[in-house]
Amino acid sequence: MVSQKIQRMFALTGICSVLGGGVCSVFSNGLDPDTVRASASASPVQDAILTRKRTVLAMGTDLVLEVNGLDSIKLDAAIDAAILEFRRIEDLMTDWRPSELTRLNDAAGLGDQVVPRELAVSIQRSLEMSELTAGAFDATFAPVGKLWKMDQTLLTIPTKSAIERALGFVGWEKVVVELTSNKVSLPTGMSIGLGGIAKGYAVDRAMRVLLEHGVKHGMVSAGGDMKVLGDNRGEPWEIAIKHPRNRETVMASIRISNVSLVTSGDYERFFVKNGKRYHHIIDPRTGSPSEGCLSATVIAPQAEFADALATAACVMGSSSALQLIESLDRVEGILVGIDGEVRASSGLLHSLR
Ligand code: ADP
Ligand code: MG
Repeated sequence: MVSQKIQRMFALTGICSVLGGGVCSVFSNGLDPDTVRASASASPVQDAILTRKRTVLAMGTDLVLEVNGLDSIKLDAAIDAAILEFRRIEDLMTDWRPSELTRLNDAAGLGDQVVPRELAVSIQRSLEMSELTAGAFDATFAPVGKLWKMDQTLLTIPTKSAIERALGFVGWEKVVVELTSNKVSLPTGMSIGLGGIAKGYAVDRAMRVLLEHGVKHGMVSAGGDMKVLGDNRGEPWEIAIKHPRNRETVMASIRISNVSLVTSGDYERFFVKNGKRYHHIIDPRTGSPSEGCLSATVIAPQAEFADALATAACVMGSSSALQLIESLDRVEGILVGIDGEVRASSGLLHSLR
């Protein structure tokens, strides 16, 4: 019930269909109605003449934008605007430097704070993702997250008591968001980190800007968070999902159109000490790096939703995550369990290699 309500809020009225069977299946039409109309009205073969591709650094990762169309000046202008939009979200939600989010965190314990509406909505959505995932996704992980320095050179493992102390300030249920007045209040000592969801939202926003500039076929990708529109020169966008431990091995090949595909895992930011791998996704129950999955790939209409769910899946473990994914409309996933076993939701079984 709860999950259906939250799904509705994220997916809006998008529809995702699996066309045909076998390896030719294409995940499609997961975006909002405008997007679907825009790509449906485009003639892929005629329109996809030029390709413009740009890679810039944003949110600490490579932001890649690729668009196909007829007019290179318009395509370049669309890319420029989408990059600005992505960076606008980064400026709003970063906690690496002063932002509206850090201002809110600094005011923990001081009662209601008025924040930009977009930030209030994002925090509200992250709370809904906490509800959906029974707390596996929890943006209030930040006080404990701060203890773990995921820098290859700084091999510091926090003490048990430091973790326990910090865990006392973790708990999404204690955050109050009032959307009518854009107010958020955080109890003393608590803070919010949107690292598990903001990149997906920024990808959604960048794609929205491409659409507003008339782009009908394109792709936005930022460090594991991807959204595709239309097709790639008449063919579906084909995404190779690599094995988290052997990056040479493609474990699945997925053809997608008008959806988001996000992968989270323990291989992106980590350090190894005494043979144990410590990585950047924190289990909010233990305050330590999660031990649920090696990697989680989620397909959903919204990249924001897929981003949070992929992060949560790494905490939940592949069985629970798969069960949740199967219960959600328009959502599919591929999970690599802690034992290395690769499992896919029913709509993606055909794509496994
Ligand atoms: P990446 O940002 O590397 O693509 P993720 O989307 O999985 O990977 O997000 C990981 C980030 O999410 C962490 O760096 C941290 O900022 C944040 N995070 C870590 N653990 C959690 C959690 N349990 N719930 C919500 N956010 C988390
Ligand atoms: Mg995430």
